[in-house]
Amino acid sequence: MRILRVVGSGVISCGCFVGLYETYDGPTVQIIEEQGVRCLNPGHQPGYLVPAPGIASSVASSGQASAAQRTVQPH
Ligand SMILES: [Zn+2]
Repeated sequence: MRILRVVGSGVISCGCFVGLYETYDGPTVQIIEEQGVRCLNPGHQPGYLVPAPGIASSVASSGQASAAQRTVQPH
């Protein structure tokens, strides 16, 4: 698998921080950047590939949501 570019990053449901990467082969993959403190999956180590395309979209949208919240802060 060869990484084409970084698409985004975010926190998945288990609490792990993942990076979202587009590959030359086509599919977008998630790779664990940092294991969440509450994550119970021993396999979620930095560099681990998370094969869950369903989570990828929620990661992308939550990233956009948090970015929007930062810009809309009234003070
Ligand atoms: Zn995890």
